[in-house]
Parts: sequence; structure tokens; C-alpha cells
Amino acid sequence: MPKIRHSRTKKPPEGFEDIEETLQEFARKMKDAENEPHEGKRRVESLWPIFRLHHQRSRYIYDLYYKREAISKDVYDYCLKHGYADGNLIAKWKKPGFERLCCLRCIQPKDTNFGTTCICRVPKSKLEEGRIVECVLCGCRGCSSTDFTSSKKEKSKQPRTENEDQRLQLETYGEQSAQTQIRQPSSNGENEEDENNQKKVE
Ligand SMILES: [Zn+2]
Ligand SMILES: [Zn+2]
Repeated sequence: MPKIRHSRTKKPPEGFEDIEETLQEFARKMKDAENEPHEGKRRVESLWPIFRLHHQRSRYIYDLYYKREAISKDVYDYCLKHGYADGNLIAKWKKPGFERLCCLRCIQPKDTNFGTTCICRVPKSKLEEGRIVECVLCGCRGCSSTDFTSSKKEKSKQPRTENEDQRLQLETYGEQSAQTQIRQPSSNGENEEDENNQKKVE
């Protein structure tokens, strides 16, 4: 898992300062999670908060760039390069069916006890009613796209509000997301899709 760090050699692009505070907040939470005493917890469970933060931080950058168009491509690239966001995970989110994927481990068959798919990837409609799922790998409580798209498709064209973003994250991971307040930069002329620049992961 990439650690948050600052490059002292290269100056961050303009606009990075708008999100820097939030990234530092993530770094602080990550550190707290790593230093959390493990007694009384299964080893895997003690890793859940770290996976969750890893997911939330990537989601924060992803939403800023692709959904809210609030950061420039330079800032986005800088974040990927410096490990503030997981480019491989984001590449998955762009694929149909993986829009809400919690973490990369949950789609790696060798890592699971459930055959080819982690239990958290199974749509709620395919599970017994009322069953609460909590995946052992990362603590995810369900991240199948079909659990998210059915009710939200009709308004997907409209820009999401901050609250809605947080609610979506809440649904993904069953926990309040980090506060993600940033100033909206005034111009965003550099947000054209550039699929070619995305890391190929297949
Ligand atoms: Zn999941
Ligand atoms: Zn899982």
C-alpha cells in the first residue's frame, strides 16, 4: 500500500494546495490506524481501517477529478504519482460492474475463501434477505455495482453534492467517510478524459 509522502524535489502543481489539507488529514488517520493496538482483534480486522482509508482517499481524488471536475489533470496525475490515490483501483472503477469496488484484493480469486468472488462482490439481491455481509479481507459490506446503480441511474447526469458523495461512500463501506471539504477552483479547463494515460491493469 503506497504511503503518503511529499516529494521535496518537485513542486506540486497549482491547485494541489486546495486538497493538501484533506490529504494530510487522511495521512494522519492512516497513521492512527496503523498504530492502533491489535489486542483482542483478529489480525485481518486490524487492517480493515487501513483498507477503508486507502479506498476513501482514492475515491476522494477520483471524485474530484472525474465526477466534480474540481482538480486539474496535473493535480490528478501528481496525486497518482505520489501515492495519494491508487491508480489501479481507479482504473477498475471506470469499468462497468466495478464502479464501487472496495479494494483490489476482493477481485483476486486466490485470496478468497468463496471460490472466484469475494462475498462482498455478490449483489444484495442474490443474498438471503437481511443477511449482513462483512468481507474478511477488508471489512467491506458489499460493493456490487448493482446495489448502487438501480436507484441512482436516473439522476447520474446531475453533479453530485458533497453530502451525496459522502452518503455513497457511507453505503460502500458502512462508515462515515473522511471530511472532504475543499475550495472549488474557479476554472477547470484541463479535465478532458485521457484514457490512454491511465495505467493498464489487465
Ligand atoms: Zn467489497
Ligand atoms: Zn471483499
